[in-house]
Amino acid sequence: MSYPLFLVIVLGFFFMPYSKSYLKEILAFGFLTAIVISINIFIVKRKFRKRMIIISLLILSVFTFIKLSFYVNYETKISASALYVIFETNRNEASDFISNYFNITVFVILMLLLLFLWYSISYLFRNENLSFNNTIAHKILAFLIIVISAFCINWKLSRENIVLMSIKSYDDYVETKSLLRKNLARPLSNNITDITSLDMPQTYVVVIGESTSRWHMQLYGYDRETNPKLIEIKDELIVFEDVITSNVHTIIALDKILTFSDFNNPNKEKNASIVQLANQAGFETFWISNQRPVGLHESVSTLIGNAAKNKMFLNTDNSDYDIYDDKLLPEIEKALNKKGNKKMLFIHLIGAHSRYLRRYPKSSNYFKSNKTNASYTHKKAFKMINEYDNAIRFNDYVVRGIIEKVRAVNTNSYVLYFSDHGDEVYDTMDLVGHNEYYGTKPMYDVPFIGWFSDEYRSLNPELFKNSELYKRPYLLEDFIHSFSDISSIEFKGINYEKSIFSDAFKTKKRLIRKNEDYDKRK
Ligand SMILES: [Zn+2]
Repeated sequence: MSYPLFLVIVLGFFFMPYSKSYLKEILAFGFLTAIVISINIFIVKRKFRKRMIIISLLILSVFTFIKLSFYVNYETKISASALYVIFETNRNEASDFISNYFNITVFVILMLLLLFLWYSISYLFRNENLSFNNTIAHKILAFLIIVISAFCINWKLSRENIVLMSIKSYDDYVETKSLLRKNLARPLSNNITDITSLDMPQTYVVVIGESTSRWHMQLYGYDRETNPKLIEIKDELIVFEDVITSNVHTIIALDKILTFSDFNNPNKEKNASIVQLANQAGFETFWISNQRPVGLHESVSTLIGNAAKNKMFLNTDNSDYDIYDDKLLPEIEKALNKKGNKKMLFIHLIGAHSRYLRRYPKSSNYFKSNKTNASYTHKKAFKMINEYDNAIRFNDYVVRGIIEKVRAVNTNSYVLYFSDHGDEVYDTMDLVGHNEYYGTKPMYDVPFIGWFSDEYRSLNPELFKNSELYKRPYLLEDFIHSFSDISSIEFKGINYEKSIFSDAFKTKKRLIRKNEDYDKRK
C-alpha cells in the first residue's frame, strides 16, 4: 500500500521544483497513506478487508496520479487559484484540456500506477489466507497513527491535501460567483449612491487587455519593435510606468480591478462595478468582448459585462482557436456612431491570451528569428518569445486602431488601456504563462496607458500639468476610483487618494499574494 507514496517520493524528486514543496508533499502524502493503512487494521472480516484494501489502493493511486500529473503540467501543486482556472474552463474545452494534459510523462505515470494496481489486486485474489496482525495493541497503535496524522495534515499540511483543498476552493468559488451574480450582473446597484456626472457630450473607452506584460512592450523599453503604432503617437499618450495588477489570474484580478473588491475585501459583500457606475451616471454603456461569454459557469467578466445596456460577445470559440482582436474594430465604430450624448465603451480583448500563435493573423508574423539577448536560449523559449512578441505587436495595432476610431468622433473623450495581468515569457525564469505560485514580476507588471482628445485636454488642463504623473506606483485594485475621476463621475465614497490621476493621490503599500509587499521584493 505504500507504493503510491513510493512513486510520489521518486517521481516527485524530478517534477517538484523546490525542496520545500517536495518535502511538504511527501509528509502530507505519508500521513495520508498512514491513515489509510491504519483504517484497514480495524476491519476484522477477511472479505471486507480485501475489498477495503482494494478501495484504499484505488484512492491512493488516484491521488498520486492527480498530484504528479499536476506537477508535470503546471510545475506547481494544486492550489486554489489553479483550481479556479479549471472551474472556469468551459465544458467544450474539457476535451482540449484533456488532450493537452495527457502528455507522454503523464501517460507513463498512469501506466506505472495501473501496472501496480493490476499486480496488487491479482496478488490479493491469489492469496486467500492473507493474514493481518490486528491484536488490541495493533489497534491502539493504528488509532494513534490516525489521530496524529489527521492532526498534522489539518495543522500544517491542508494545502497539500487534495481533498481538503478542492472542497475549500470550490466552496469559495461558488460563494464568489453567487455574490457576483447577486450584486454585479444587474444594470443598477443599490451599493452606490449620490452619483453625479457632467451633462455634456462625452465618449469614454476603457480597453481591458489580456495576458499582456509590459516587459515585452517597446513603449516600456523592450528591445524589439512590438509597439510601432503606439510609438508613433507617443507624445499624445500618458504611459504609466509603475502599475501592477492585484492577481495574475483573469477572474480574480478583474473582480478587484472592475469592482470595489480589494486585497482586504476580496469578494466584497456590498459590491458594485464600473459598468453599473457608468449606467447610473447616465452613460449609454457598451460591453464589447472578444472573450467567450460562457464558462463552466458564467465567467466573472461576463457577469460584470452583463450590466451594460448594450452587450456584444463576438467570440464563442475557446482560446485554442484563432481569435483576432481586429474583429472588434468595426463593432467599436458602430457603437461610436450610435446616437447618444454620453457613451461609455468597455472593450474586453483576447489580447495575448495563450496560445499566442493564434492571437495574430499569419500576415502579422513579424518576429521569426531567434531573439538576441534572450535570458533563456532553448528552442521552445525562442519559439514562444517570437509568438508572444507577435501577439503584442498585433495588440499594438488593435489599440492604436481603437484610438483612431475615437479620435475620429472628435469629442470630449479618452481611451484608457491596461491588461488584467501579464505572462512570464522566459524573462525572469524558465517558464511560460502565469500562475500565482511563482508570481514573477512580468506576471504583475502591466501596461497602463491613457490617450486624451484635444477637447478633453482643454477641459481638464490640471491633469496634464503634473509631469511626474506617469511615475506613480499604482495597484489596479483601486481602479474604480481612477475610472470615476477621469470620467468626471462622483459618488458617495469616492476616494481621490486612490485615483492615479488625482492631485490627492497617495502612494500606498501594494500587497499581493499572501500579504507580500510588491515593492519590497527582490
Ligand atoms: Zn487573464
